[in-house]
Amino acid sequence: MSDQELRELLASVAKVAADYRESLASRSVHGTISAHDLRRALGGPLPADGVSADCIIATLSEAAKEGTVASAGPRYFGFVIGGSTPAALAADWLVSAWDQCASLYVMSPLVSIVEEVTAAWLRELLGLPAATSVGFVTGCQMANFTALAAARHRVLREAGWDVEAEGLHGAPDIDVLIGEEAHYTVPLALRMLGLGTRRLKRVPADSQGRMQVRELAEALRGRSGPCIVCAQAGNVNTGAFDPIAQIVALAKERGAWLHVDGAFGLWAAASPQRAGLVRGVEHADSIATDGHKWLNVPYDCGIVFCADPGAHRGAMSMAAPYIASAVDERDPHEFVPEASRRGRAVTIYAALRALGRSGLGEIVERNCRQAQRLATGLHAAGCEVLNEVVLNQILAAFGSDDRTRNVIRKVQEDGTCWCGGTTWHGRAAMRISVSNWSTGDRDIEQSLEAIIRAARAK
Ligand SMILES: *Cc1c(COP(=O)(O)O)cnc(C)c1O
Repeated sequence: MSDQELRELLASVAKVAADYRESLASRSVHGTISAHDLRRALGGPLPADGVSADCIIATLSEAAKEGTVASAGPRYFGFVIGGSTPAALAADWLVSAWDQCASLYVMSPLVSIVEEVTAAWLRELLGLPAATSVGFVTGCQMANFTALAAARHRVLREAGWDVEAEGLHGAPDIDVLIGEEAHYTVPLALRMLGLGTRRLKRVPADSQGRMQVRELAEALRGRSGPCIVCAQAGNVNTGAFDPIAQIVALAKERGAWLHVDGAFGLWAAASPQRAGLVRGVEHADSIATDGHKWLNVPYDCGIVFCADPGAHRGAMSMAAPYIASAVDERDPHEFVPEASRRGRAVTIYAALRALGRSGLGEIVERNCRQAQRLATGLHAAGCEVLNEVVLNQILAAFGSDDRTRNVIRKVQEDGTCWCGGTTWHGRAAMRISVSNWSTGDRDIEQSLEAIIRAARAK
């Protein structure tokens, strides 16, 4: 392919992408094509000979019209899914065009320095100590994994055990305490780290899903030795926060490592109105969060913070003769499980620079206000709101479990907006998460009408 042909290909993709983004606000929010038709459009035998890139882009873009979910758009409220701000999306394209291996400084000085700058901005935004180390991973699952690997390293080292060298065979026991309402990726990370799921101690939660401090104190009383406590900033159902400042105090007293999973809730720190919810997080030993949820950068992007850079590096890096760093600069791989990797911090850099502290705070505050409006509107229409709406998450019920499930199905079919289902304290509930930078107040009113319409339909 000639330079000119490549230029034309990239220009044509830019047009296709812009058309797609423009369609997000007006199209049906759910995918409307069947799996069978998608297979027919995309499948078939492996081509014996190649076809043109133009042809492939045309096939993909046609299939995307009905095969994608408009989760990047303003009325997608499923799971906890953000969109992507224009600057972050554009920067993500550049990352692909640059095709850097963001492992060593020498492989990409640019990405190394972008990581350094972005890490400093994030520490400042979140009020974290200057020494905190930062790794850019694929998502909060890997952020939890990386943080807990650092935790395992340090609590065992303090007990005289080198887990990286010896593994867990014959190692001292570690007490691991997690909230009853911890996100499933926390036990999964612990499982991958050889700490098992059956041995975890589950600390009971209150009606909103917050870890009960009295129960934690009870579980910690009179025990010594290696210990990891996992708290949560932002419950995926209710949005509730564990009382982090109190948990920090208890963990410190016990000499435990405190990890906080703040996949979306951590960003409350960007809003002066909501920052109180995460107070104390600056004293945690490690924090995991997502870029691709509330920060609204494209997938795949998570961030891990560690107050003990030695433990962070100790758990993640592995010396090899050919990777010895020649310069005194950041080698990105030292803070993450991967070796070769994408320069994903570039999208965070772009998002933070485009929004500034005030712009990010505005998104958080607007989404919280919109969640409040949805809750008030649903309540006024006779629907039941099951949680205290403290952040961007709402749980709604519409009578019996069957009726609630029926309303969820109707809303999804209608396509004005998309809300998922969950079970909360034994009851079926609609889960609504407002996490997109582009959601306007008009989108909220339209979605509220669609939900109420579905709730009133026979
Ligand atoms: C989404 C989420 C995770 C997992 O994040 P991924 O980016 O999907 O890996 C972990 N914890 C909480 C609280 C979440 O909301």
